[in-house]
Amino acid sequence: MAQTFERELEVAMQAVARACRVCRSVQADLVTAATIQKKDKSPVTVADFASQAVICHALSSAFPGDPVVGEEDAKELRSNEGADARGKVVRHVNTVMGEPLSEDAVLAAIDRGGFDPQAATSDRSRARYWTLDPIDGTKGFLRGEQYAVALGLIVDGRVVLGVLGCPNLPVDHDDAGRGQGVVFAAVRGHGATMTVLDADSSAATPIRASGVKTTAAAKFCESVESGHTDQGASVQIAATLGITAEPFRIDSQCKYAAVARGDAEIYLRLPTRANYREKIWDHAAGMIVVEEAGGTVTDADGKPLDFSLGRELSANRGVIATCGPIHRAVVDAVAPQLA
Ligand code: AMP
Ligand code: MG
Repeated sequence: MAQTFERELEVAMQAVARACRVCRSVQADLVTAATIQKKDKSPVTVADFASQAVICHALSSAFPGDPVVGEEDAKELRSNEGADARGKVVRHVNTVMGEPLSEDAVLAAIDRGGFDPQAATSDRSRARYWTLDPIDGTKGFLRGEQYAVALGLIVDGRVVLGVLGCPNLPVDHDDAGRGQGVVFAAVRGHGATMTVLDADSSAATPIRASGVKTTAAAKFCESVESGHTDQGASVQIAATLGITAEPFRIDSQCKYAAVARGDAEIYLRLPTRANYREKIWDHAAGMIVVEEAGGTVTDADGKPLDFSLGRELSANRGVIATCGPIHRAVVDAVAPQLA
């Protein structure tokens, strides 16, 4: 029987739920019609650091020996130019903490996120680390749309646990009246669940990917950003597969969530340039949630994603996630577009 990682799951789910609340607090306070119009990126800086502080603080309290691999360290915030953002980060962090954190504690927590597994000096830190995207889908966050807080645990080069917080995702894809905000979680060998962010009782309910077995009946999702996926190629692929539904475009790993709970059957992420390598924090949590919901995830060539190579998926290009039975057909339809 696969290891259950019970304590890790509990800590990660609480930390991600808290980070979702901090992101919502920043979005409500700082993302305005004016910042959207000006394409002002400053709100994402505050939310990114605040989310990372909340999660890294929780992880370092519960698992002091575990490194965290992510994009940010606190250098920018420590500078003079960072003073304004620093004040906002500390203030927003403390809207969700039971015990307030000092500025030093916030900066120290953020600094824990910059680990590089390839520079690991001990076997322990090479063998087990977390990977975090404190706000995945920053463009969606800045538009007031979809984004995600993504946390994965990697042990011996394999993703064993993932938690994906989606603060703006409808609780029910087909019923807007049920509100927004969902946390998805998965442990290898133990299935995937979703939990409503604002529910009084925190019951996690199991999720399953769609049972659709023919590509013509499938819906597919892809990035909003044409720089992140080849949207022209996906039109051709959809035609080959007999897909008539319009693509469902949303930012962030919410696309993995959509496949995992059956809102869509296919997520295509097709390389836009030959040398781009996907980052582990953009895929670890989403991939395991889909796999544990019964779906399949590979790169665009149909190969498994290899998380054992450091910060990047350097042996892979692109991503294809599906509900499962149609995976081979999708990989075969993608192949001519990659040539
Ligand atoms: P999405 O919300 O699906 O568009 O994905 C957002 C993620 O795309 C960001 O976290 C970036 O790390 C990643 N990204 C940035 N540039 C590229 C690129 N050229 N191709 C694929 N992904 C990218
Ligand atoms: Mg990201």
